[in-house]
Amino acid sequence: MELDKMDENDWKYHGEGNKSLVVSHGQHSRVLRLLKYPAENAENTHQTAEQAFRHIQNIVDFNKNVMKPLLGEKYVHHGEAVKLPLDFVRQLSLKVQQERPESRCDKVMDTFSGCAVCLPNLTQISACHIGEHRPPLCIEIKPKCGFLPFSRHASKEVKRKVCRFCMHQHFKLANGKWKRMSRYCPLDLFSGNKQRMYVAIKHLLEEPQNNFKIFKNGVLIYSCKDDADRQQDLNELAQHLKPYFFPTNGLINGHQSSKAVLNELIQVIISALLSSWDSGRTGEPRKVLPSEGRAHCEASPLHRDMLRNGNHYLPKDCVLSKILQAQMLDNLDIEGLYPLYKRVEQYLEEFPKERNRLQIDGPYNENFLEKVKNCPSEDDGSIEYAVGKVHQYRVAMTAKDCSVMIALAPCGEGELLEPSLEIQPSKPRFTYSVSILDLDPKPYESIPHQYKLDSKIVNYYLRSIQSKQ
Ligand code: ATP
Ligand code: MG
Ligand code: ZN
Ligand code: MG
Repeated sequence: MELDKMDENDWKYHGEGNKSLVVSHGQHSRVLRLLKYPAENAENTHQTAEQAFRHIQNIVDFNKNVMKPLLGEKYVHHGEAVKLPLDFVRQLSLKVQQERPESRCDKVMDTFSGCAVCLPNLTQISACHIGEHRPPLCIEIKPKCGFLPFSRHASKEVKRKVCRFCMHQHFKLANGKWKRMSRYCPLDLFSGNKQRMYVAIKHLLEEPQNNFKIFKNGVLIYSCKDDADRQQDLNELAQHLKPYFFPTNGLINGHQSSKAVLNELIQVIISALLSSWDSGRTGEPRKVLPSEGRAHCEASPLHRDMLRNGNHYLPKDCVLSKILQAQMLDNLDIEGLYPLYKRVEQYLEEFPKERNRLQIDGPYNENFLEKVKNCPSEDDGSIEYAVGKVHQYRVAMTAKDCSVMIALAPCGEGELLEPSLEIQPSKPRFTYSVSILDLDPKPYESIPHQYKLDSKIVNYYLRSIQSKQ
């Protein structure tokens, strides 16, 4: 990619979240991730070009030096900070505007700085062999927090019974963020129990909100639609997927129901989420993640007997296990963390120059990672302890907000593969790659907001449950 010869016609709208907008290249397997700003104060938030580049570089550094070592080299692609010609960015912004969903148009793309992150396009995976006519599929899951707080600081009993995602649903519905309740519960997805994972993914399919997307050939084919007819959408999705799971050239004819197709999809997703290449290769016994705070969520609509059907675990190196371990760095809960944040604030008021040494706003380097990893386990009253916990909390927040991308490339009959790369040898075969994206550092300044939001969500949930009884 030659940065001085950028042409907006080579790029197309790919997707966006709350913070950034992503465009993908037509030929090369690359994306550009540009930041967004609230539309009403786009002019004032307008940083100097230098500040903007620093901000983008901070994101890349955090991915590369903090999240990548914690989550695993094979899962994280940190990308690189690039400076684009302003003319290109302005043209691009005009070009993508009509593709953007209305609900996201409260923010505008940054067209002032020209800064962006360039990343591999993770929805694409090269075909398994030449002549394969079925394009790659990609499933994106934003799993959210997979455990219940186990900290003694969590003051309300309900926080130990009902997970944050399920409580937050009530709040989001009341605030008009979504029109329908999602029945997905992250604790089921992270359980490692295939039956519970099956149900969790089924609920994601039924009500994707912003937690589930499917791409075919890099193009979004399934995601949230507020007013849509769900059953029709699922049938259309099944039509897309049928050639992958029931190719008509075999024994199986073309009359499988949508249900059978979606069932196969869910099985493949489960296999990819639980796969753990390293232990598979070395033949070491699979290690188990401690089950602290990982029982089940009382709001999850699962059958009791499915929960009793125990003996489940997450293989230690699988993507879910890696994410969960990072999430669990939040071991004090926001209620235990907030007083430590105040300790840091007070200290900084007295010694403002210490802000740099303590790396409150970065730089996100090896030293920062050391602070995260080597934080004392007991509070000795020190500023180092407080800062270590704040850093850990921010890393956990990032892990609670990331997405998993599972890219699948179908393999024709008779292709021989390395066994560890193959999902379910007897079934339709795929090579796959699993990655983790959206690993931005969460701002230190947002901690008071998180503290308030937590109590709002819990109180709202308690009230809405009470009024139903
Ligand atoms: P959120 O609101 O979830 O925090 P965000 O604004 O931080 O989102 P991302 O999640 O990083 O933005 O990107 C938005 C969307 O763009 C993703 O959900 C994903 O579908 C797509 N995307 C991002 N990075 C890539 C990539 N490297 N390859 C392919 N698609 C990508
Ligand atoms: Mg995202
Ligand atoms: Zn739940
Ligand atoms: Mg994000």
